[in-house]
Amino acid sequence: MSTYTAPDAAAAVARLQSLIRIPTVSRLDAAEVDWEQFRRLIDALPGMYPLAHEYLDRELVAGHSMLYRWAGLEEGAPSVLMAHYDVVAASDEGWRHPPFSGEIVEEGGQRLIWGRGTLDDKGSMVAILEAVEGALAEGFRPLHDIYLCFGHNEETAGDGAARVVDLLESRGVRPRLVSDEGGAVVEGIFPGVDDPIAVVGVAEKGIMSLVLTVEQQGGHASTPPRLAATARLARAIVALNKRPFRAGFTPTNLEMIRTLGAHARNPLRFAFTNLWLTKPLLLLLFKRLSDETAAIVRTTQVVTQLDGAMASNALAERATATVNIRIAIGSSVAEAVEHVRRAINDPLVRLEVHGPSEPSPVSPTSGAAWQAVKDSIEETYPGTIVTPYVMLGASDSRHFTRISDHVYRFSPFEMSKEERGTLHAKNERMRVDTFLRGIEFYRRLIARL
Ligand SMILES: [Zn+2]
Repeated sequence: MSTYTAPDAAAAVARLQSLIRIPTVSRLDAAEVDWEQFRRLIDALPGMYPLAHEYLDRELVAGHSMLYRWAGLEEGAPSVLMAHYDVVAASDEGWRHPPFSGEIVEEGGQRLIWGRGTLDDKGSMVAILEAVEGALAEGFRPLHDIYLCFGHNEETAGDGAARVVDLLESRGVRPRLVSDEGGAVVEGIFPGVDDPIAVVGVAEKGIMSLVLTVEQQGGHASTPPRLAATARLARAIVALNKRPFRAGFTPTNLEMIRTLGAHARNPLRFAFTNLWLTKPLLLLLFKRLSDETAAIVRTTQVVTQLDGAMASNALAERATATVNIRIAIGSSVAEAVEHVRRAINDPLVRLEVHGPSEPSPVSPTSGAAWQAVKDSIEETYPGTIVTPYVMLGASDSRHFTRISDHVYRFSPFEMSKEERGTLHAKNERMRVDTFLRGIEFYRRLIARL
């Protein structure tokens, strides 16, 4: 396999820059979306990737999601490479360089590409297209069909990817491998391990919002009842906070601990590789170590929104709290609702489920599809430990679990803790080096499909 060469690299970076400059911003209210920008990006791609648009068929799904099919040489189950090109909103305020500038910045001996969408997730889309274009230029043809799926409303949990899956399902497509954003190459996330770690999401937690409502006769705040609706609601929230979900390791958690633990320094290595002895202690450690490790071992619940009276001197006729819940693998929406009901234990607090999505199935960590991802990572990032994990957030790929048992969530980029903190926040940017490595990753993966 050829490695990426410098002249291509400069052009690839320029293409990413120009696509960052198209503000394809997702908004919850679809009427507020500037669809013209999405159209601009869709129209820009054929000129940038002429071979890809000559050899692959492209169709638009649900308006602006793109589905490409690259015909393989043989019959057989296809693969799907996914990314999304919508981004969350960003204003110039607080950004060291403007979010849609696509500026190249030298910082700390690194060249950085600045802007919204570099890490999440235009960087992946561009890396996939670069890999396809590069492979075609060398005369490569895939053995089996490869689909590219670029969603247009992932950030608002929209319908793009779901409609793509409907379409593929209706055509009888059963992918042997689906790759989407998710984990990355990270460092310092696991106690006692200094090597870089590639975390590959083999599952993702479920999600739902639970709206708690207390209703009561209204009136003037000067003559309040003993327990106002707001107070009853507050009591329910306190009760809920006192009752976290039960913690436990899933099989994926344990595999991650064993995989990474084998590379840890002693005595941690001993603790991580003798789980028969140390599991209870480790569970305690995970619950306390950080918010992230705590979220790994249980269903999480957090009140995100509160609403009460219309005026400061009126009693609330209706007090509501929204609880955002992320459901652990092995549990369910129904189980989570039951837990909350019991914790609150008050029939006057009404529960209403919004936007429920069950935890995903778990993709295997053996077999050809897993091995293709793992080998491609190890060749691209030598010395990196590859481990499965359960993704804490949700991605478009969850829809694909309907038609594939092999869904892997991995963005092939190095991301420091600080860089991960820029996702959906200020100063999102990507190192040029890691962007180019991401292209190499997809080149290697494509060659295996
Ligand atoms: Zn994303």
